[in-house]
Amino acid sequence: MKITRIETHVLLDPGYDVSACSSAQDDLVVLVHTDEGITGIGEVDTNPWVAQAMIHARGTHVLGLGLEEMLLGEDPLNVEALWDKLYTGSFMTGRRGLGICAMGALDMALWDIRGKALGQPCWRMLGGARKPHITPYASLLPAGRTVAGYRDSLAAKAREAKRLGFTAGKMEVCVKGPYSHNGIQADDGAIVEIVAACREAVGPGFVMMVDVCYCWTNFKEALWVARQLEPYDIFFLETPLQLDDLDGYAALAGHSPIRIAAGELQNTRFEFLDLMDRGKVDVAQPDVGRVGGLTEARRVCDLAADRGKLIVPHCWKTGIGIAASAHLSAATAHCPYIEFLPAPLAESPLRRELVIDELRMVDGVVPLPEKPGLGIELNWDAMKKYTVARGNP
Ligand SMILES: [Mg+2]
Repeated sequence: MKITRIETHVLLDPGYDVSACSSAQDDLVVLVHTDEGITGIGEVDTNPWVAQAMIHARGTHVLGLGLEEMLLGEDPLNVEALWDKLYTGSFMTGRRGLGICAMGALDMALWDIRGKALGQPCWRMLGGARKPHITPYASLLPAGRTVAGYRDSLAAKAREAKRLGFTAGKMEVCVKGPYSHNGIQADDGAIVEIVAACREAVGPGFVMMVDVCYCWTNFKEALWVARQLEPYDIFFLETPLQLDDLDGYAALAGHSPIRIAAGELQNTRFEFLDLMDRGKVDVAQPDVGRVGGLTEARRVCDLAADRGKLIVPHCWKTGIGIAASAHLSAATAHCPYIEFLPAPLAESPLRRELVIDELRMVDGVVPLPEKPGLGIELNWDAMKKYTVARGNP
């Protein structure tokens, strides 16, 4: 089998708002075509126009080759070997950041091809099922432009998630710092008040995570809040500090009574090694596209296992990335949860409409996917409706 063509689509929610903090408003979907009629599907959560350019840009020298040019004519079943080829060949322009994101979408599509060609779901090729089913957690983004409004909206959403059968949910308590929601800037006491209201709403037994979106500039502030939150039984505290403050993460993780989680933006296993070995985080959160695809996500999971860390993948995109997360989780014993929002509940029309997937929550869990590859189909009506820029269609 040979790769014959790489097609990319930039998609945009027509109602997108640049001041909103949801990255589910855009998408880059990648289709890798082959001479045997099998097409692989991938996506990535980054600026879609830039990632599209990274894929189709021509190469000019051996450290700066084009991703598309490197894949054309190759056997798509050599997935890991192709990852290494792309990484080495794009060394000057890729290596981290955007270049790895673009590679991640391509790698996801290659895994989809491999599964379709072999008639196997991706989790089987990632090492086989390490669990009977996948456990989702609901990410809950509240409305409200005041602390009281935000608190009440989040508590209501937590109650609703529990009613729908979720056993776990992540409270987005983003009321401080550079990525706060809805224009709110509150103090640390408000964070504690909001978490307390959510615990009150769901009662004991419901697993609660808290995401504060990089809100503190030093670990002592974060530690004060982590200690205040201890009575509310929090599974992890996500991204408390600036992403590059690895020494701050290490100090916080060394003293916090709550697990510290990070990794949604990290690219490659090398950045996860820094995050785990220097940053000492307890929970690594690779986003399958951004980390460099399923090939690199698998490597991160193995490194985390060696270090006794948990994996809880990040995903705030469409059914394509969610399927990739689900397959990764199925094959990873130390991955207790995936971020999963059932499509009908999503605000993003891309999440609701783009993909026909087989993942369904039944009694609070997602059965292992059984279709070959990622197990998804694109809804071409939605693809046409939301595509704003095509590459090589
Ligand atoms: Mg987050």
